[in-house]
Amino acid sequence: MITFNHKARILIIYTGGTIGMIEDPDTGTLKPFDFDHLIDNVPKIKKLRFEIDHIQFTPPIDSSDMNPRLWDQIAKSIADNYDGYDGFVVLHGTDTMAYTASALSFMLENLNKPVIITGSQLPIGEVRTDGEENLITALQIAAATTDEKRPRPMIQEVAILFENYLWRGNRSTKMSADNFNAFKSNNYPKLAQIGLGIHFNEEALWRLPFTRPLNVRYGMDTNVAIIDIFPGLTEAALRHQLSMPGVKGVVLRTYGAGNAPTAAWFTDAITEATERGIVMLNVTQCPNGGVHDRRYYSGNRLAIAGVISGHDITTEAAITKMMFLFGQGLSQSEVKRELITSLCGEMTV
Ligand code: ASP
Repeated sequence: MITFNHKARILIIYTGGTIGMIEDPDTGTLKPFDFDHLIDNVPKIKKLRFEIDHIQFTPPIDSSDMNPRLWDQIAKSIADNYDGYDGFVVLHGTDTMAYTASALSFMLENLNKPVIITGSQLPIGEVRTDGEENLITALQIAAATTDEKRPRPMIQEVAILFENYLWRGNRSTKMSADNFNAFKSNNYPKLAQIGLGIHFNEEALWRLPFTRPLNVRYGMDTNVAIIDIFPGLTEAALRHQLSMPGVKGVVLRTYGAGNAPTAAWFTDAITEATERGIVMLNVTQCPNGGVHDRRYYSGNRLAIAGVISGHDITTEAAITKMMFLFGQGLSQSEVKRELITSLCGEMTV
């Protein structure tokens, strides 16, 4: 069961998303609105008796407009307030939530406080909204502590809370545009199950074996790309994508256990790209399972061509990890070395 710090100080960072949207009377479409509107719709928050402050993006955004500059902004808000708060709740649109969660997990080095990201499928002002419950549960999780003499935060990582589950942020994927349970970690257990109570799966939680000051690593390098293969992909299309000016890294989304066409034109194009110095990471298109690139002849050809196995990493974590590593100024071989290492629980190696 859950133990709370009843005097918890929590900072809400409101970036936008459906949770705070209202309908535009002229167009009938949903548009982000300000924090006061959002909070006015959750009077129950006062019952929590936590000390809650907020920061809001101006203007709040639909998360399809999220970008690495804004990730820096979120990370900076956390860093600037790190010592003054017990936990952080980031309100965010669902569309790019898994990318933001992954990016923050890499950027917030030595994190040992909760960063809980949530949002909703229905705006907070709607009668059947899921936003109210998600916000309240996220705040409770941010205030949850271990049941020890000297309690520590229960969650010490970036996590996504949605409806009935808490997931590791860099393992999560948006699975549904309709269901209230919109997120899932297809390759990692849930961190908590939310029902009548909040039940943490303590064995699955990320805990650093040391305490060091938070160190934010800013600056993503966006010279990266995702290439999806499909039956019918042409040599011209593949070569065009691999020769984009400035591209340093590519997440290659392959079939099943990491397989791709065995035709010479395909392997040649990939080999030429890796020989030109492009770092390529093999990630499966399957929502569940990972790359086993020595299992089939076709996957093995990719490994021989110099493509690194991404094991069971999500596409969201793979692309943000690449942006992060190149953004730290690492060389090609250093990036490759880090890609086969789990930095903060983003893959099983
Ligand atoms: N388009 C919205 C966003 O990502 C969807 C949502 O919040 O659920 O901001």
